[in-house]
Amino acid sequence: MQTAETLPANDQTNLQDGDIVIVPEAVCQDVIGRDDAFKAVEAVFAAMAKRDAWNFPVVREALGHEGALYGFKSGFDKAGMALGLKSGGYWPNNAARGLTNHQSTVFLFDPDTGRVKALVGGNYLTAVRTAAASSVSIAHLARQDAKVIGMVGAGHQSTFQLRAALEQRKFEKIVGWNLHAPALAKLAEIAKEAGLPFEAVERDRLGAEADVIITITSAHEALLLKDWIKPGAHIACMGTDTKGKQEIDPALFPAAAVFTDEIAQAVTIGEAQHAIAGGLLQEDDITAIGDVINGDQPGRTSEDQITIFDGTGVGLQDLAVASAAADLAVKAGRVQVTRLI
Ligand code: NAD
Repeated sequence: MQTAETLPANDQTNLQDGDIVIVPEAVCQDVIGRDDAFKAVEAVFAAMAKRDAWNFPVVREALGHEGALYGFKSGFDKAGMALGLKSGGYWPNNAARGLTNHQSTVFLFDPDTGRVKALVGGNYLTAVRTAAASSVSIAHLARQDAKVIGMVGAGHQSTFQLRAALEQRKFEKIVGWNLHAPALAKLAEIAKEAGLPFEAVERDRLGAEADVIITITSAHEALLLKDWIKPGAHIACMGTDTKGKQEIDPALFPAAAVFTDEIAQAVTIGEAQHAIAGGLLQEDDITAIGDVINGDQPGRTSEDQITIFDGTGVGLQDLAVASAAADLAVKAGRVQVTRLI
């Protein structure tokens, strides 16, 4: 491969057939904001529900080296013309090297020719696309008058989640719980920036107060029990993306309206897996959020209804935000350009 060169900004909108653009992590952070990510994720959920976009089977393997988990998430969005994959995984020893443990890169291909067209850093994009998913669910499913948001979890994803969620409703207060309470300081800092009060609370209080709850932990047990949750609450379960992980009481599911990004993932690796296994929920009871976005299915049907969004995370979300990032970076003259031949 020849060395990548950075073209002047005015040349970057005139890319030639076969040019490959490289969008580094730092450029992704500069060019793609929460609003761009929201629009890209909302559009791809809508396309998935219309069968205009589909995810391919996920590959995830333990490497037997460095304790690493490595895999691919891929798909094709015919509506948005995004084809490609996110490759990466989890390297537990990276932190000691000053690197992020979760590593990912998105490869985009030209759907007309199969030629690679972009390499996009995927670490920041993973966080913004995951936050965009819960935000899309809040926008379409939470009560309009939601005032209190509850955060369960205060790890890497949580700050992205909270910042994006605060833009969806006129929240007046933030309550938070984390296994290790000191980590809540970074959520308190975001509350301060937003001019909102923040309170660290026990989980039962969080359930009693919050109109919108985001769970974003690596827990393997129900952290929120059914009786703690306020009528009318919206719960975005974002942490459970693997078999065995769990964040909420499966008993919440039978009486709730349940939505997801992709039903096949929800029942196998999402939060719904436990309610399905316990016979408390059937696959047919789950609605793809894209159908709500498209107006083909109702969202919330009463003010007292509890709504659950099972955000499992799909490759098409990554392709959607990476495509947007590549387009915006080209327009801003911020990409490096190279060719394979
Ligand atoms: P992180 O390691 O930075 O933070 C983990 C969080 O989980 C912390 O708040 C920690 O206190 C909490 N936690 C860990 N074990 C727990 C337990 N037993 N009980 C209660 N809390 C516990 O991770 P992160 O990057 O913030 O990711 C959080 C979760 O979100 C992970 O499970 C990750 O796989 C998942 N995730 C999902 C998506 C998606 O698309 N749905 C995308 C990215 C990450």
